[in-house]
Order: sequence, then structure tokens, then C-alpha cells
Amino acid sequence: MQTPTPHIVEVAIPLPLEGSFHYVMPAHLSPLSLPGKRVLVPFGRRKVTGYLLGDAEPAAGELREILDILDEEPLFTPAELEFYRWIAGYYLHPLGEVIKMALPAGINVVSRYRCETAEDGTPVLREFLAGGKRVRTERIFAPVDGAEGRPRGKGLEILEYLREIGECSAAELRKRFGNCAPQLQRLVALDCARFTEREVYRDPFRAQSYEHDAPLALNQSQAAAFERLKEALSCGVFSPFLLHGVTGSGKTEVYLQTISEALRAGRSALVLVPEIALTPQLVGRFKRRFDCGIAVLHSGLSDGERYDEWRRIRRGEASIVIGARSALFAPLERVGVIVVDEEHEGSYKQSEGVRYNARDLALVRGKFAQAVVILGSATPLVTSYHAAMNGRLQYLHLPERVRELPMPETVMLDARGQKGETFLKPLVDAMWENLDAGGQTLLFLNRRGFATYLVCESCGHVLRCPNCAVTLTYHRIKGRHVCHYCDYSIVAPAVCPHCKEGAITLLGRGTERVEEQVQQLLPEARVSRMDRDTTKGKGGHARVLKELEDGSVDILIGTQMIAKGHDFPGVTLVGVLSADASLNLPDFRSAERTFQLVTQVMGRAGRGDKPGRVLVQTLAPEHYALTYAVAHDYEGFYREEIAFREDVGYPPFAHLASLTFSSVAAGQGEASSEEAALLLGKIKRECRLRVEILGPVTAPLGKVRGRFRWQILLKGRERAELHRLLRHFRTGFSHPSTVRLTVDVDPVEML
Ligand code: ADP
Ligand code: ZN
Repeated sequence: MQTPTPHIVEVAIPLPLEGSFHYVMPAHLSPLSLPGKRVLVPFGRRKVTGYLLGDAEPAAGELREILDILDEEPLFTPAELEFYRWIAGYYLHPLGEVIKMALPAGINVVSRYRCETAEDGTPVLREFLAGGKRVRTERIFAPVDGAEGRPRGKGLEILEYLREIGECSAAELRKRFGNCAPQLQRLVALDCARFTEREVYRDPFRAQSYEHDAPLALNQSQAAAFERLKEALSCGVFSPFLLHGVTGSGKTEVYLQTISEALRAGRSALVLVPEIALTPQLVGRFKRRFDCGIAVLHSGLSDGERYDEWRRIRRGEASIVIGARSALFAPLERVGVIVVDEEHEGSYKQSEGVRYNARDLALVRGKFAQAVVILGSATPLVTSYHAAMNGRLQYLHLPERVRELPMPETVMLDARGQKGETFLKPLVDAMWENLDAGGQTLLFLNRRGFATYLVCESCGHVLRCPNCAVTLTYHRIKGRHVCHYCDYSIVAPAVCPHCKEGAITLLGRGTERVEEQVQQLLPEARVSRMDRDTTKGKGGHARVLKELEDGSVDILIGTQMIAKGHDFPGVTLVGVLSADASLNLPDFRSAERTFQLVTQVMGRAGRGDKPGRVLVQTLAPEHYALTYAVAHDYEGFYREEIAFREDVGYPPFAHLASLTFSSVAAGQGEASSEEAALLLGKIKRECRLRVEILGPVTAPLGKVRGRFRWQILLKGRERAELHRLLRHFRTGFSHPSTVRLTVDVDPVEML
């Protein structure tokens, strides 16, 4: 007799290991084997959850057996697997980890060990399986016809109720009759009632009902944009758009109507927004407009709630998904429209694990799905605008606000030569005036970044790297100011090299004391603060906003949080205190970030019926990021910024990747990074790749959570060449297990 050929399968395992693994599928599980299901497999001395990718060719060598198949239905489709493979390839990340990240958290089973006492009293380690998320069920009770049992008292009442209404969940019965578990048990024992288990969803938004609203009659620019979107939808091919429009120009209305069009054609829609903009108001707008199922994915969901939303989507019970970054992986099928609102937001980039950018991947997913992708923003990324100018994105413009609101009057205050005063006199005067007039004031503090930087007290000149044009970062250990892109460094000069007279100081002061200072300056004002500390915990955010809304606060001091997503109708004065802090981050995007930020903050003034004023206090009143922001001139800013990017060779004129090496012992990461740089240089020469290799250098955040960090920055003119270098490097490079290496393709934050 011949032995049958074994059934070999390919499995991806969510561990930081390259490649996939082969196992034997035992005969009794073989009929259930389908790609997309999870399997329990032996791995080393453990048992772990893996993902079935498909069948594989029999190969030589001993293979271990699959222990179990964990799902009845596949968790992902072949098309989704293609998408995951693309992500794994692009971000150079193991496929198993990509799949794990894309699926709801907490569903995998892994083995753990527990210390137990053996019969002879010696301690032993016992393996057990942990994890795996449960589906929540509830019991539904129904009466049994013609039952002979005779319950009494409360039991009889319950039975009569059940006969009256047919069936009822245990939870409902409990609400009506109080604790009635014993009576129900008795009814079942008497054969008077029976129950079934029914699956329920943990519904975070509960049954809130919304009044229906109708589409608005579009204005001219909205209608023009909508026509083109509709046209693209009807073609049914991948069509990427940039929708450029100031806040209040009616972008959301265009999204809504485009989505409506897609639904009519039997397709679904995915809407990505930054976490901070994912408010009940926004969700309400969608729920009022659409009758179909809407799933909402945000960071406030428990793992269980998220899992339930995910299952609803998987089963086709929701045709619209609204969510932050990770909603990109929602298992929607037949996607017709993908919206990325506020596409310029850095928060679309995942900063650990698989370092994907949801804004970029929205385009990739849209391509796979032949969908319309709309990137919306008031301040598009320079790279997006450049793509639109070159025809790679179709450009849609909404130049005006729907309701004629006057643009706020904006004044720049020159803080040079003021010896680092927190508040310049005109700002203090304006705060007084506004307080007297009963208006509210918003003070925006730019607390981004840790960085301290060198600046001239008298002319405001900031010391930058002559090669890379980013600010220099002070390294205490070296006692020098270092460029963290190329390692150029200097000792702080005594006088300004620019004006030759001002003293150089280290700026980047703490801002915690600002609230105190405001209170001292304006003792009568009611002052409140909104930042990460004061909004900790559930509802903290809403509480501060409520104070502002009901007028119990005169002056609100806030960080990045107040810049986005909120309407403050009572605010008539906005003060920007430290525009410079983000301008001088050691990052080539610092001008772009500052322009976006200041534009956003300015948009907070005068959104009610009173016109607003904005005062921007800065050491760099001539910097183009500020002058164009204040003049509401996006195109002007774009022209300067794109010229700078081209000059120095930054995106969109180059593609970047950063490699970070970290270790607890200082020397190890450094040694590894130096070996890496040598290998990269060798590959570059052998393959003749046009990629610049910068570093290794100490990372700007030189030590994080006890680990020393080194960075190498790669800059390639051609994306394909950069990826070739990275792939060769990945296969050829090995480092000690004490060193951690992370590869970040298209890094956003390079700290
Ligand atoms: P954005 O998303 O660009 O900030 P919205 O779509 O939220 O703009 O529109 C701003 C406000 O104007 C909303 O209150 C919206 O209901 C209203 N609006 C939008 N389009 C129209 C329109 N065509 N006619 C009347 N009101 C509109
Ligand atoms: Zn440099």
C-alpha cells in the first residue's frame, strides 16, 4: 500500500520572524482547511496561533502537525491576503504580524506557563492555553406549548408573560421581574419553557435614534467636485482625488453625497478621520443621513466591542465604516469610496509595530478595490498637492466657506529682543480687552517635541545644519549641538553668527507655568487648561469643552488638542504663543507642520457670529510658514516649501527610510548600526543604487525607556531602488538578539 501524500500547508506566524512556515495538516482536519482560518501550531516549545495561507508543495524534511483549526469561517479573504502581502513587502514586516495587526486584537490563542505543585510536592511548569475572545451570547426564553407543569407565584407570572409575548431575553426578564434565575431554571425543569443561545453585539453607541435629514443643495464648487466624483464612481476604476477646502467649505457634505451614490450602486464606504476628530457630532451626521448599518471604530472601544463591530462588518451588516487609523483594515467588501479626512494628519502613521501610514494605504486599498479615494484637507500635505499638480491625484477645490464668515483679523507679534517674555504687551492688552468685552480667549501653546534649540536673542536666527537644514539638537553627553540626520555638530557659539552681536540662548522652555502666569496677569479671568494631563480619563476632554461652551471659562490654554476638530463659537481672540517650537523641531517637515498648525488654530477664532482676532507671537515673524499662514495663502506656502524640498532632496523628490538600532548596553546598538552602514554601502555599490546613506547617528531621543538608540537615514531618488537596498539588507544583515532593529519606511516622526 502506498502512503498518501501528506497535506502540507503554509502558515504565517505573528512573530518577528521572516518568511512563513510549513506544517502537515492531519487527515481529520484536512476537510476543514481553508486559507484565512487560524490554526494552533507547535512552535519551538510553545503552541501559538498562526494563519493558514494555503496549501504548499510537499518538501523534504520533517514537518510538524497542525494541532487544531480555530475558526469555522475564514477571518480574511484571498483579496485581503493580497493586501496584507503588499503591506508586508512594502514596510518590510513579517506577514504574520501584519495579519495580526489587521485583525481584531485579543482573539489569538497562545500557550502560557503556570507554576503548579506536582503530587510529590515539587513545583512544575504546566502549559496552558490562554487568550481567544468569546462571542457574547444571551439566553432567549420561550414558552413550551401544551406543557403540563404547574409553576406558582413569580414563576407563573413569568410564564404568563412569555405566553403573551412569545419570547424574551433573560436580560429583559430580569428588568421586568428582578432576579428570576431560579424561577427560569424551574420553568425549564418543568418543561414549561425552553431557551436558545443567541449571539449579541456589545453596542458602544447603543440604540440612539437619529432624526433623518436630506442631502443639502450643493453650492457651485461642491457641485463641480461632486460631479467629478460621481463620474469616477460610475467608471468603477481606481480614482484618487485630493479635495482641498478650508474648514467649513462643505467637504463633509461632498463625502456624504458621494457615499450615497456608492451605496446606491451596491458598494460600501470607508471613512477615516484622525482619532481626535472622531466625535459624536461627526458620527451623528452619518447616522442622520443613512439608514444602512454604520460601524464606528475608535480607540475608546474595548477589545470586545471592537471585535463585535468587526464581526458586524465581516457579515455585511454595515455598509459604512467610520474610524481612525486602524479602520483601514475593516473587513468591508465591495468598497466603492474611501475617504481620508484631514489627510495631512501625522496620526495616520502608526508609530510602532507595523509602521504603516493609513493615508498611503488608503490609496493602495482603493487600487485593489477599484474604488474612489478622496483625500480631504484644508492644508494638504505638500506631497499631496505636488501629486495633484502632476496629475497623480485629481484636484478638487472648495475655495470658500459655505456660510460667509469673515476671516479673522491676524497680527504677527515680533518677540525678538524681548528676552524670552512669555507674553508680549499687545497680547496682554488684547486679552484684557477681550475679557472686558465678555469674549473668550484661546491660548495655543505649541508643546510638540522635546527639543531645545539654539537661537539668537536679538535677531531670532536659529542654528541649523548646513547640510540638512534641520535644527541642531543638544546632546548633553557630547556637550555639542548635533544634526541628527548627518551627525554634523558644533559647540554653541557665544555670539550669533548671523547678526554678530546677539547672544545665543537655548530655547524650548517648559510651558507648564503659563497657566499660572496668565492667572497672575489677569486675576479676574477664569482660566482653564486643556492638555494631556487635564483631559486624562474618560470624559475629561468633553468636560473642558463643556466649560468653554457654557461660558464658565474666559481663557482656555491648550496644546495641539485645541487646534483640531472643535467649534468654539464664543472664542473671539486666539493667541499663538510658541509657533516657533514646531518650526524648530529637528525635522524637515517642521515648516509644513507649523503652517498646518497655525492655519488650524486661526480657524478657531470667530466661528460664531462675531469676527475674531488672532495674535501670533513669534521669534520668526518673517518665516514663510508663518507669513503665508497668516495671509491664508496655501499656494504661496506650497511654492516656497516645494522649492526647499527640491533643493535639499526631501519628499516628494526623495523617498526615505530610517533604521533604528537600540540596545540597553550603549555599545551594542552602536556597533550594530556601524556594521549595518558598512553592509548598506556594500550593497549600494554592488547593485549601483542611487541611495544616500546618512549616519549612523545618535537618535534625537538618544535614550528611550532605558535603551540607547542609533539611526541610519536612507534617502533614495527612486522608490524601487530604496526598496531593493532594504530587501537585500534585510536578508543579509544579522544582529545580536540584544539589539532591536526597526525599519521605518516613509518615516513621519524622526525622533
Ligand atoms: P467641512 O467638512 O469642509 O468642514 P461641512 O461639510 O462640515 O464642511 O460644512 C460646514 C457647514 O456648512 C455644515 O454645517 C454643513 O451642514 C453646512 N453646509 C455644507 N454644505 C452646504 C450647502 N451646500 N448648503 C448649505 N449648508 C451647507
Ligand atoms: Zn545635517
